[in-house]
Amino acid sequence: MPDSPPLWKPNSTAGNPGIVCAVTQSPWNMALTVGDEFGNSVPRRKTVCDLLGTDFRKLTVSRQVHNHGIVDVDTTTAGRGRDCSEDRIDGADGLVTTLSGVPLMVLGADCGLIAVIEPRGRAIGVAHAGWRGTSLKIATRLVERVAARSDTPPRDLQAIISPCAKSCCYEVGRDVVDAFENIENSVDSIFKRRNGKTFLDVQHANHLQLMTAGIRPNNIESANVCTICDPRYYSYRRTGSIVGQHALIAALSRANTTVPAETSINVSTTIPHVDTVGIPLAASTVADAATKPTPVGDAEDEKFTFVVPEKPDTLVKLATKSDVVPVPGQEVDKSNQRVFTSMSVAGSLSKSLTSGSGAP
Ligand SMILES: [Zn+2]
Repeated sequence: MPDSPPLWKPNSTAGNPGIVCAVTQSPWNMALTVGDEFGNSVPRRKTVCDLLGTDFRKLTVSRQVHNHGIVDVDTTTAGRGRDCSEDRIDGADGLVTTLSGVPLMVLGADCGLIAVIEPRGRAIGVAHAGWRGTSLKIATRLVERVAARSDTPPRDLQAIISPCAKSCCYEVGRDVVDAFENIENSVDSIFKRRNGKTFLDVQHANHLQLMTAGIRPNNIESANVCTICDPRYYSYRRTGSIVGQHALIAALSRANTTVPAETSINVSTTIPHVDTVGIPLAASTVADAATKPTPVGDAEDEKFTFVVPEKPDTLVKLATKSDVVPVPGQEVDKSNQRVFTSMSVAGSLSKSLTSGSGAP
C-alpha cells in the first residue's frame, strides 16, 4: 500500500482553482464495506481529501443502487457516508451540490464515474454509471440537474468521465443490449461485435449521452482508459470479485468566502456575473440595491435578488457564495462578516450593491 494515494487528475479541471476533481487508483480501496483492507478506507478517504485540499468532514457518499436517482446535497446532508456506510445518503447514484467545500464521491470498479461541473463554481455533480445506470440515462439527468442548480446552459458545463469498462474487454449479453434499445444514441457505436460476441463501451455511451444532453464535445474529458485491462484501476470483471473500488471525488473548492456587512461591494470586481445564456454582463448593467436585498432564511443563508434591465422579465442567478470574494485590497473586518450564499438578478441598475440591513 503506497503512502500517498495514486490519483488521476483530469487536465480540464487542473487549471481551475475553483474545482477539485480526481479519481483514485488501485491499490487504494476507497470502499467502506467491500474489498481489501476496507477497514482502512476512512483514513484513506481523509488522506485523499487532504491531498486535494478539500474537507473530509463534508465528504458525502450515497448508497449506489444502479439506478438513475440524483439527490441534492445541502448543509444538512453534507458529510453523510464519509466514515460510516450506514449513514450514506440512501439509494442515489448521483449527487449534486451548490455548496463550496463539500466533496462528493462515487465509487466503482468498471462502472463509469462521471462529474458534471459548472466551471465558475456554481454547482457540481457526480454520478455512478454502470451499464444499467447508463441505459437509464443517469448522465443526462446529471447534466439537467447541474444546469438547473447553476442556472447555466449545458453548453457551458464541463464533464469528466473516469476510467471504466470499454469495448476492448467488456463482453455483455443480450440483456444489456436490450436495455439500450430505447436510447436515442446509436447502439451500433456503443457496442462492438467480434467473433460472435458483443462488447459495450461504457465510456463512449456516456460520452454520447453527455453530448446529447448539450455539453460541447470539447468540454468533455474522458480518461480513455479501460479498467478491465489497466491494472491501475479496480475491475470487478478482471478479478471476478470485488477486491476494492476506486473513487471519483469532485468539489467546489473555494472556501466559504465572506464580505463585510454594510460594505459596498463593487460587483464588477467581486462577482463574476453572467446572464442566463452565459454572456458576461458589463458591470454597469448590474442593478443597484434600489432592489434592496431581501434576506431569506437565517443570517448565514441570505438570498439576494437583482434585476438586469435589458432583461427585466428574466430572473437570473447572479452569483453563488463561491463567486463572492472580498474586494481586492479591501480590508475585511472579521468580526462583522456575513456570508452571501446566493444572488439572483432581478431589478434596476447601478455599479454596486450593498449588503443591506446591517448586522446579521
Ligand atoms: Zn480493456
